[in-house]
Amino acid sequence: MGEIVVLGSGSAVPDEHHAHTHLFVREGEQGLLIDCGSNPVLHLPKAGIEINSITDILFTHFHPDHISGAPLLLMDMWLLGRSTPLHLYGLKHTLDCLETLLDLYNWKAWPDFYPVHFHRFPDEPLTPVLENDGFRVFASPVKHMVPTAGVRIEFLLSQKSAAYSCDTEPCPQVVQLASGADLLIHESAGEGVGHSSAEQAAEIASEAGVQRLYLIHYDGRAGKAVLDAMADSARAAFHGEVHLAEDFMVISVG
Ligand SMILES: [Zn+2]
Repeated sequence: MGEIVVLGSGSAVPDEHHAHTHLFVREGEQGLLIDCGSNPVLHLPKAGIEINSITDILFTHFHPDHISGAPLLLMDMWLLGRSTPLHLYGLKHTLDCLETLLDLYNWKAWPDFYPVHFHRFPDEPLTPVLENDGFRVFASPVKHMVPTAGVRIEFLLSQKSAAYSCDTEPCPQVVQLASGADLLIHESAGEGVGHSSAEQAAEIASEAGVQRLYLIHYDGRAGKAVLDAMADSARAAFHGEVHLAEDFMVISVG
C-alpha cells in the first residue's frame, strides 16, 4: 500500500515538533524523498527510513527551508559508505542553485564520492518527472516567490494518486495536479504573497474534487487552539476529510 511519510510539517520557522516540510513517498520497493529542509539525517532514521536506501530526491524550489539540508544529507550518505548513484530532480533554477551551493563546499574534491545525476525538468504543466515500478511523478509550476514545482504522484500498485501543492498561492495548476486524486497535501502558511491560507487550500481541494485534504507548512508555534481553528476554517470550505499533517504522520493512500 502506498504511503507518504510526513518527515516535517512546519513552515519556514520550525519548532521542536514541526520540522521544515519534507516528505517521503513509498510504494513497494520504491521511495522518493521530496525536499531536504531541516535535517533529514535525523528525521529519516526516526521514521524508520535507512538513509542510503534513498535513490531519488525531488527538490521543489530553492528556499532554505526546503533545500538547506541537502549538502549535509549528501555528505552523510558518502560518510555512511554510499557507492550507488543518487538521482536529483528539480526545475533548472532549483538544481543550478543547488549545484552552486554544493560547489561552495568543494564537493567534487571529496574522494570516492558516489555518482550524482541531476535531472532538470521543464517549467511546464504536468511534466513527467520520474517513473519506476512503484509510482509515476508529474510536476507543474506553481505560484511562489521563486520558480517552484507542485507534484502529483500516481501510485501504480495501489492504483491511487496524491498531489502536493508545495509553497504557493492558490492557483489553477494545483487544481490540475490534484484533479481526480485521492488526496491533496496543501500548504497553509497563511494568505499572502506566495502562500495560502487553510481556507484557500480547502477551496482548491474542493475544486479538484479530492476526498482528503492534509494541511502542511503551517506555523507550529501558533499553539493547539489556533491550529484547531485553522483546520476548522478549512472544514467550512471543503466537504471531504481535513487533517493537520504532523511530523512522522504516515498517510496511507489506500
Ligand atoms: Zn518557499
